[in-house]
Amino acid sequence: MSTYNKLSDSQLLEILALSADPIAIYIGEDIIIQSANNAMLKAWGRDKQVIGKSLIDALPEISNQPFFGMLQKVWHTGIDDIGKAIKADLFVDEKLSTYYFDYSYLAIKNSDGNVYAIMHTAKDVTEKVLSLEVLQKAREKEEAFLREQALNEELATSNEALHNAQEHLHKLNVDLEDRVQIRTAALTKSESRLRYLLADAPIAIAVFTSEELIIESANKKVLEAWGKTAEIIGKPLGMALPELVGQSFLPILKEVFRSGEPYFGNEIKALLEQNGKIEEVYCNFVYQPIKDEKGNTSSIMLTANLVTEQVLARHNIQQLNEELSVINEELSESQEKLLAMNRDLKASETRLDQILSELPTPVVVLLGENQVVSNPNNSILQFWKKTREEVVGKPMLSIFPELAEQPFPKIWKQVYETGDKVIRREKPVYFNNADTGRQLYYVDYYYQPLHDLDGNRIGILATVIDVTDKLEARKMVEQAETKLRFAIDSSQLGTWYIDTQTREFIPSLRLKQIFGFYESEEMDFTAATKLITEEYLDIVVEAVNNAMYKGDKFDMEYTITTLHDRKIKWIRATGKLYEADGSRTANFSGTIQDITERKLEEQRKDDFLSIASHELKTPITSLKGSLQLLNKFRENLSNPIVPKLVDQANGSVVKITNLIDDLLNTTRTNEGQLHLNKTKFSISEMLDTCCNHVRMGGKHDLIVQGDNDLQILADEARIDQVVVNLVNNAAKYAPHSRAIYLIIETLADQVKISIKDNGPGIAAEKIPHLFDRYYRADYSGTQYSGLGLGLYISSEIIKRHGGSIGVDSELGKGSTFWFTIPIS
Ligand code: ADP
Repeated sequence: MSTYNKLSDSQLLEILALSADPIAIYIGEDIIIQSANNAMLKAWGRDKQVIGKSLIDALPEISNQPFFGMLQKVWHTGIDDIGKAIKADLFVDEKLSTYYFDYSYLAIKNSDGNVYAIMHTAKDVTEKVLSLEVLQKAREKEEAFLREQALNEELATSNEALHNAQEHLHKLNVDLEDRVQIRTAALTKSESRLRYLLADAPIAIAVFTSEELIIESANKKVLEAWGKTAEIIGKPLGMALPELVGQSFLPILKEVFRSGEPYFGNEIKALLEQNGKIEEVYCNFVYQPIKDEKGNTSSIMLTANLVTEQVLARHNIQQLNEELSVINEELSESQEKLLAMNRDLKASETRLDQILSELPTPVVVLLGENQVVSNPNNSILQFWKKTREEVVGKPMLSIFPELAEQPFPKIWKQVYETGDKVIRREKPVYFNNADTGRQLYYVDYYYQPLHDLDGNRIGILATVIDVTDKLEARKMVEQAETKLRFAIDSSQLGTWYIDTQTREFIPSLRLKQIFGFYESEEMDFTAATKLITEEYLDIVVEAVNNAMYKGDKFDMEYTITTLHDRKIKWIRATGKLYEADGSRTANFSGTIQDITERKLEEQRKDDFLSIASHELKTPITSLKGSLQLLNKFRENLSNPIVPKLVDQANGSVVKITNLIDDLLNTTRTNEGQLHLNKTKFSISEMLDTCCNHVRMGGKHDLIVQGDNDLQILADEARIDQVVVNLVNNAAKYAPHSRAIYLIIETLADQVKISIKDNGPGIAAEKIPHLFDRYYRADYSGTQYSGLGLGLYISSEIIKRHGGSIGVDSELGKGSTFWFTIPIS
């Protein structure tokens, strides 16, 4: 093979330019026409001047056709673009005509693979395309004709249906129009109703149109909230409410306009002019965009609710809450302190409880108005004979129902209600003991009101001390003392007490009386000793000292001269030294007895005995004389002196017998052995026959006066004895009274017998003693013999008959001794 010089690119291109088919070469992304052969220039309808120009400048008509872009794509991508029958509108022969080309845009690349030129070849296939188009059109026409024919037939048939349908449609239309009309009317109505509703709605409603926010409508509520009238309708919001400028609302509304999104405001603060000044109000509101049929926001509806009050209230509540939380903190702090205190309290309470429970005094706390038992200590449980479980937490009356009828519930109530404490001593209380039944105790009780820290009364602190034993012991002592005092009183004993240390002398009232002191007068030991008669003073003082300091027995009888009336009294004093014991100091104490009466009695007895001896001695001496003489004449009984001596002896024996009778009667009377033998008898007969010895004596005339027929029921012998006694006395003590009157008187159911003489009478001071035993008005004298027993025995006999005896007498005026006895 031979070697040829390689053709240059431009040579190659010139060769190509000779081709009958249109060829063009472009370079660069601006598709600069490097070369174009005549066929191409002819196709373009241009000359060689287009060479060097950008294709788009060369063929401006292609600017809105795809070719330039297709070429640029090939330049950039290096990928060939080959196609058939592409349509191109070109300005050829001064007119724009349509051509069709098969074409190829080939990317020419260098050795590196970079595109450095595009080769454009084209083949005009316009005629072919156009004839094909004509053919196609003719075919299409034919097809269309055929189709039209078929359609025409179809149309003819469907025309009728169409007509029917048209009628139906017309009807529907009419119907629809009617409905639309009704609907429109309803809508109008509902709209007006809506407007009316909105106008009076309780929420604020306004509508703003356009971005200028023209107030299209505003109901009463919103006007009210704004503080404006309906005059603002039609004005821009910013002008109507200038105070809104600078607040957030206007920008938000604009944003709603722009975005078409609703905006919800919750409790938003607004500053609005109300009554000429700016007020702070809070509202919940919605900006709702209203859109036209195209979806554009045409207006905004504002609905708002004023919640100022709620918000302020909530703010207040919040503030309150904050304050509360502060208080809470303080509270919790103080609660902690309280807790601490409580712990302390608890501790001391426990301590207190322990102390309470160990306390030997019975103590219990009674809580509330029902006296619920709390904190009973061991001592009170022991007293109650109950366990802690049996009583704690229970009201007193449910534990001890028997207390209900006793005074305690009333006292508890009083203490609980008034807060005054109550102290009572030695009060009886009954408990129903399971074993022993109803049992009596004596208690000292102290009820003290109990208060809590705030001073509220919560109950009673009760202290109850069982003093039953103590009281019973004391009662026994008291009883013994009472008995002793009774014994002392009835024995008329005076008592005295001398403290051996201080020599303090304590006399009883009776002692003072015995010594002649007045009740109110002081009587010390010296004053007492001063009254002791001289003959006894020394021995009494000595005996007292011996008893007091040596413990000698002290029992003395001595005389005193009483303080004021200076009477001599006989005293018996006894005493004993009591050594000091726990309760008292050493003392010398004892009794004083007025024994004057006894001493006088003894005196009288002594006197009586001497008198009785003397009285008996006289008739016995005379009897003895008579018997001695009779003894002389025993050999010569015919001596006339003998009968005289016998009479004398008899007389003496009668006297002795009488004396012995008196003595016997006295003894019997004393021993209560004076028995009565009652019979009915005539009192005047009895008086007539008694005392014959006096009548026979011839010295006195016994004159019986009064009711001669009176019969009485009595012991005749005893009544006779009384009358004899009184008549004998009259004869004895009124020897010169010739007449002695025996007078019978009837007094209702009694008979009164009086023995009246005209003797010397009896001194007034002696009269009260006449009927005493052994009493003789003038016993010292020997003028009248007697035992002083006659009147005593008489009075006893009359008393036994249920009658009385007495004397009416005056010195120098005679005496009338009388007695009364019941007639039957
Ligand atoms: P007696 O006659 O044994 O002394 P009575 O008891 O009979 O005892 O009398 C007591 C006293 O009363 C007498 O001692 C006497 O002083 C006085 N008396 C009694 N009767 C009379 C009288 N008719 N006139 C005056 N004195 C009288």
